[in-house]
Order: sequence, then C-alpha cells, then structure tokens
Amino acid sequence: MSTTKTISAQLRGVITQKNNGAFTVSTPTGSRNCPLTARLRRESGGELAVGDEVSVDAAGQIDALLPRRNWISRRSAAPMPGAHTHEQLIAANLDQVVPVFAAANPRLAWHLLDRYLVSAESAEIPALVVITKFDLAAGRPEADEIEQVAAEYRALGYPVLLTSTLDGSGLEAFRAALHGKRSLLVGKSGVGKTSLLNALEPGLGLRVQATNAVTGKGRHTTTAATLLPLAAGGAVIDTPGIREFGLWDVDGADLAWFFPEMRPHLDRCRFGLDCRHAEEPGCAVRKAVTAGLISPYRYQSYLKLRYDP
Ligand code: ZN
Repeated sequence: MSTTKTISAQLRGVITQKNNGAFTVSTPTGSRNCPLTARLRRESGGELAVGDEVSVDAAGQIDALLPRRNWISRRSAAPMPGAHTHEQLIAANLDQVVPVFAAANPRLAWHLLDRYLVSAESAEIPALVVITKFDLAAGRPEADEIEQVAAEYRALGYPVLLTSTLDGSGLEAFRAALHGKRSLLVGKSGVGKTSLLNALEPGLGLRVQATNAVTGKGRHTTTAATLLPLAAGGAVIDTPGIREFGLWDVDGADLAWFFPEMRPHLDRCRFGLDCRHAEEPGCAVRKAVTAGLISPYRYQSYLKLRYDP
C-alpha cells in the first residue's frame, strides 16, 4: 500500500468513550466503535483516553494516536491488598477541569477540592470550581462560610461559581464559562451534576446518564468517562465512575509547588528544596501560614496530601 493511499484512507476523530478494549470515535462521518490495530495496542499498551485525537484506518481500526496537549490521570486503587497501583488515564486534551461540589447534601469537602486542584495544577490545566445546590445553604450560616471560602479561592486565581438549578442563579455564568471549551467534570455522585448538565443544555444530563448506564457499571479497571459535545460549541466529559481520586505522579517534593500561594515562599526555607514544610525549623511556608498569608485550611490540605497522596 502506498503512503498516499494510507493517508487518504485515514479518518481523524476524537475518542468519546472507552468500551472494553474498543473505543467510540467521533469522526466527521459519524460515530463508530473502533478497536486498536495490533501494532498500536502493542505500542500504547491500550492506554488511550477519552478526548484523545486518533486516526482510523480503512478497516475501521484506530491506527495512530496524535500527540496529547495535556491529560489528567489518577492513581488507580490497588485491585487487592499488596497489589501495585498504576496510572489510570481519565481524559486528554482538556481546556479546563471543573470540580463540582454541593453546598449541602452532601456537605462540602474543601479538602477534596484541593486534591482536584493539585491534580489540575500538576497537569497545567486551568480549573473552574462549581458549587451546586446553593439554595440549600441560602440564609444559613453555611452560606456565609461558602462565600468566604469561595472568595479565598478566587484570590488564588480559581474562579468559583455558586449555582442553583432551583432558582437559576449562577447558571448563565456557568454556560458562558463552558462555551467553546472542553471541560472535564469531576465530583462525587449526588452533587447534582446531572441537573447541572440538564440546566446547561436540555437533556444533556440525561444523555450522560443513558451512556453511563450502558458502560462503566461494576468495572474496576476501566474509568467510565463520556465526552458529549455541546450544541453551543465545546464539550463536557463526565466521570461518574470515579469514586476515589488519588494523585498520580505528584512527587512529594513538588506538591507545595502545586499550591500557587506557597510558590513565592519555597526558596526561602532554611533547608531549601529539602524542606517538607512540616516540622523543619526555618520553614518559610509555615511562617507564611502563621502570618496569615496562607490559609491554614489549605496548609492542612497540603499536609494531608503529602502523607496520603
Ligand atoms: Zn518549608
């Protein structure tokens, strides 16, 4: 087969879903289910992700993976005690990571938010924080606390949207923030992602639920993630199968770097790069916490992630 013929027979596409060793690929001529060629399976170890750009050969097989601009991975849970954990690719070629939390029911877990933010920082992908069900907190002390913490995150450079699908607040800003971008939504079940997606585009949340009902149930080695294009431009990737979000490839020594407010202090510790910013004397990070320059809650998150990544 000549080179010219190979190229003309190829079709470019984006992986929108993983299905047990094969992949749904969205191409200019429609969606199709494609296995990998034996060669690509050997070379890639089968590790392709939702959002990957690929080429499909004339036989309908994925024969090449195009270079990734970025990607998000998590540390997979060990399948049994003593087994090794490994990298689990969640999605590739993202414009933003969108951690979604409920203002109440379940109670907001700021520490988990810091875990998502560190993951986004280490992948060099911007983050947009979305708080749902804000109506449940309105008029209660929780609302003040959430407003205050949201202001702290905004000061760090992370936009925070307070939304309610009940009274519609924050939804216009949410729609504008997702417009034309590829967004990875992360968050525990029950935080109201389906309602949020339905508010973004009628029926979108239901489409996500329907695709997730077909795939992703009861699997331990596969991450259920689905890419859905938005009518207004852009796409969302939902990740309902992810219950734990262990940090992958974040070295303990690098962790503080992924807290933007700690960066200016890191070269001022007495022990320099060897400082773990825990018990060491002359630690500039701890000094900044005491001086009120770094939130004690964020510092606690740092320590927690340092010992339980
Ligand atoms: Zn230090």
